[in-house]
Amino acid sequence: MDLARITLKQAADLLHRRALSAVELTQFFLERINAHNPTLNAYITVDAEGALADARQADACLARGEATPLTGIPLAVKDLFCTKGLRTTCASRMLADFIPPYESTVTRRLREAGMVVLGKTNMDEFAMGSSNETSYFGPVKNPWDHSRIPGGSSGGSAAAVAAGLCVAALGTDTGGSIRQPAALSGITGLKPTYGRVSRYGMIAFASSLDQAGPMTRSVEDAALLLQGMAGHDPLDSTSIDQAVEEYVEQLSGGVSAQERMRGLRIGIPKEYFTDGLSESVHKALQEAIERFQELGAQCQSVSLPTTAYAIPTYYIIAPAEASSNLARYDGIRFGYRCEQPEDLLDMFARSRSEGFGAEVKRRIMLGTYVLSSGYYDAYYRQAQKVRRLIADDFHNAFTQVDLLLTPTAPETAFRIGEKKEDPVKMYLSDIFTINVNLAGLPALSLPCGFDAQNLPIGMQLIGRPLQESSLLRVGHSFQQVTDWHQRSPL
Ligand code: GLN
Repeated sequence: MDLARITLKQAADLLHRRALSAVELTQFFLERINAHNPTLNAYITVDAEGALADARQADACLARGEATPLTGIPLAVKDLFCTKGLRTTCASRMLADFIPPYESTVTRRLREAGMVVLGKTNMDEFAMGSSNETSYFGPVKNPWDHSRIPGGSSGGSAAAVAAGLCVAALGTDTGGSIRQPAALSGITGLKPTYGRVSRYGMIAFASSLDQAGPMTRSVEDAALLLQGMAGHDPLDSTSIDQAVEEYVEQLSGGVSAQERMRGLRIGIPKEYFTDGLSESVHKALQEAIERFQELGAQCQSVSLPTTAYAIPTYYIIAPAEASSNLARYDGIRFGYRCEQPEDLLDMFARSRSEGFGAEVKRRIMLGTYVLSSGYYDAYYRQAQKVRRLIADDFHNAFTQVDLLLTPTAPETAFRIGEKKEDPVKMYLSDIFTINVNLAGLPALSLPCGFDAQNLPIGMQLIGRPLQESSLLRVGHSFQQVTDWHQRSPL
């Protein structure tokens, strides 16, 4: 078996059979990171020592027969989850030397389940971007074509999974940052329902939208990882206090894809299949729809009339929240401080203007503007109302169908530099993912084809609140009868 392409499920089986040790597996990935990270730039920080120590503990746990399905699995962590004692930069100069004094709930849970943290992955600065080009640590290369972006903002995690520099990775998704890079890098990514996974210890971008999720080589792996991440957390007041479903168990049980799909009603929102959609993506989606129909699902057209308002609404709400969240970086309590400030105001101003990159500053300015008195009603309050209408649209659609099927992104991976100077063009990359965050819904992106340049194409399944299990079941069924997810750039 090629360990670089191993799934979490396969790795867990090998570890549990003691056919391979966690230390061997960890060493394998550390060597691959050494060999390929200089080109791909997927990791900002590699923690070889910490990973090997975790792996030794995992092996001891396996030997004692106390292992979980995640014990000993090498994981890549997006560099905005606080990891105690391990540098957490958010890909910003502002936090380039920040060593958190505490651990995020998600990484704590996964470490307690025995996972091995290989290091922290590259991303857009403060998760603001769709291409990973806003990182202070430089762009990430798409493993399928090094002249292209891997998607963003969780681009380092996506590239690390696609290129075999980890078994699985963590991402976060505020407007598409798990799903869009998953689609553009040919992997599987799940954004859970808002509140399903704790945000405690995740560096905040837009708190009413941010949500962590798994980025993996298969839907089954996403279920395994989500199982370890999800659940109520008293440390996050927006975390949902409701039992976590048995995601993994629900996938197994010898049910065939046909049996699962029979009678399933899939809605195809007509607003997602318009002019902006590239021909190759359209064609791949068409084929996926046919595939679902062959399996017995009923596909029907539905309408989400407010779709067109997603981008303007998001780009009021997300920057508004960001401007507030990022006010804490003042050069005093956290992160970067300018040299020799003349006085307090000079220190605030210069620390922030030197510490933040251009996209972050753009968001802070936008956010401050829409929240300022005189504009608050015209922009922010209005956007909140539209947000409600967008959620209502989904709610209505779910009275007719069980889930929705859409493209994840309007096109395949674009070239590094292609959209960097045009923020509006860049913002349109998330036209199909942003609505889902505004409505707080769960959504899964999984591979469904390739274009003529051999670049991966992703499709998105959107579900009702807390219906992660049904998305995972349907996605898993699709992967049982297709092999798009098994293709690899290696
Ligand atoms: N690309 C979107 C943005 O720039 C979404 C980012 C994200 O989901 N973190 O805001």
